[in-house]
Amino acid sequence: MKYVVILLVSLLAFLHPFAQSKKGNESKRAQIPIVIGITVDQMRADYIDRFWNDYSNSGFKRLVQFGAFSKNCQYNYMPTFTGPGHAAIYTGSTPAYNGIVANDWFVRKLNKMTYCASDSTVVGVGTNSASGKMSPHYLCATTIGDELKMSNDGKSKVIGIALKDRGAILPAGRTADAAYWFVGGSEGQWVSSSWYIETLPDWVNTFNINPKFAQSYLKEIWNLLLPESCYDESMVDNNPYEIPFKGTIRPTFPHNLDSLSKLNGQYELLKATPQGNKLTVDFALAAIDGEKLGQDTFTDLLCLSFSATDYVGHQFGIQSRELQDIYLRLDLEIARLLNELDKKFGKDNYLIFLSADHAGAPTPSALSKQKGSAGYWNSDSFEMALETHLQEIYGTGDWVINESNQNIFLNRTFIREKKLNLFEIQEKVVQFCNNNANIQSAYTATALAKGNQTDFFAQKAQLGYSNESGDVIYILKPNFMEYGPQGTTHGSPFSYDSHVPFILYGKNISHKTYQGLTHVSDIAPTVCAYLNIGFPSACIGNPVQQMLTLKRK
Ligand SMILES: [Zn+2]
Repeated sequence: MKYVVILLVSLLAFLHPFAQSKKGNESKRAQIPIVIGITVDQMRADYIDRFWNDYSNSGFKRLVQFGAFSKNCQYNYMPTFTGPGHAAIYTGSTPAYNGIVANDWFVRKLNKMTYCASDSTVVGVGTNSASGKMSPHYLCATTIGDELKMSNDGKSKVIGIALKDRGAILPAGRTADAAYWFVGGSEGQWVSSSWYIETLPDWVNTFNINPKFAQSYLKEIWNLLLPESCYDESMVDNNPYEIPFKGTIRPTFPHNLDSLSKLNGQYELLKATPQGNKLTVDFALAAIDGEKLGQDTFTDLLCLSFSATDYVGHQFGIQSRELQDIYLRLDLEIARLLNELDKKFGKDNYLIFLSADHAGAPTPSALSKQKGSAGYWNSDSFEMALETHLQEIYGTGDWVINESNQNIFLNRTFIREKKLNLFEIQEKVVQFCNNNANIQSAYTATALAKGNQTDFFAQKAQLGYSNESGDVIYILKPNFMEYGPQGTTHGSPFSYDSHVPFILYGKNISHKTYQGLTHVSDIAPTVCAYLNIGFPSACIGNPVQQMLTLKRK
């Protein structure tokens, strides 16, 4: 037995990516200069195959053809929103354990909504507006970056970058050196908050003032990258399922950013165009130089999130040419990033992991037009009907205090005063939900708090549930959503929202396409196993062995 163990240990040591890096003086830790985590906001796993023929050879194709690609990576919880998704990727956990239960959620004791990155105790750095008062203080689990820092007393640098504050802040984690996000409107600046730093470093100031840089990104006419015939994976350009930019009648190319910006939030417009992704890569490259990332013996981590894909998905839908085009252009930005990394650190001498914070649903109005089962939901009228129903049973009163994210919050103080049984009322609400043709299922907080859910979707509700959640959580029927008749959204537990890509690429990673099931909560432990560091505190996933079959020299 002893020999088997020794044999196994030496085999594992041999298979480890850096086992041979220092003969006779083996380093316990990865000798790799930099890890880049890429989150593509709202990227569905099928975009890899759907747009494959139109991608260049050096972006997504390079990652997939030379890296390890998990084709069936799933979110194992609901709600599939941006804040929770970014937190899940980097904590290897779910809202039940990492504290990020939605983008905005209702706080009972304050009787108001809060935002997943808002923090009234900090001030903006580089902005005086409320958009600077952000931090990761709601995050109650460590991230990959936190663990990396703990492995060497903080010598690794960790930086988060995204147009969206939550896309930069939650991945980087609480002990990060800095997170930077983009303030649109009339400002057009990269900013941070006093959680991390007192003043912006010189390289950020230089980037921000570099002759009105944000303006230069608006000097662009967004047209199709490729000939029209390349877009037959998408709908015709002029269709009724897209939201036109303000001030235009049709949602069609070309989109002249400079003239559109006046009615579409000035620099805010950049967030909903491919220029937003270009801006993100430009800033990321400036950060690598400015922060001297990957220059010493301690591995650094850059957490990048591409937010613009999400804005375009919401506005134009997943079947639009705008959506296809922004992915073809993101492909070129990723190619540019890889090329720069090769130059800075040596070819493939880094690790990339890529995933998405959630996927996205087909536009219900378009789907139902094609005889699909789909539709819309109005939570306000549902809440009013529920209130009336409860009044009929229990008498006059304000029984429902909040309905948000398909969570129903009952007036617990009132119920206590009336000496009524909370669980019994929760059950009545569940019955009311079950009588609604557009609701799939509903669960009481009492049942979810007990655990032991066995139904597939109840388990997803369970892993998204915390004591911040409502008294009853309900799931709409597949392809039903609360949204306007054009564009689309996400948030459900269904595959169109939960199925995302997971790619690992770089030093010593072998090519592999893995069809088996992986969960987003496996991403962080996979990266940590590669780096030979501890797993994040609330991690519930496991390293994906099939993606860590490493190259031998
Ligand atoms: Zn998102």
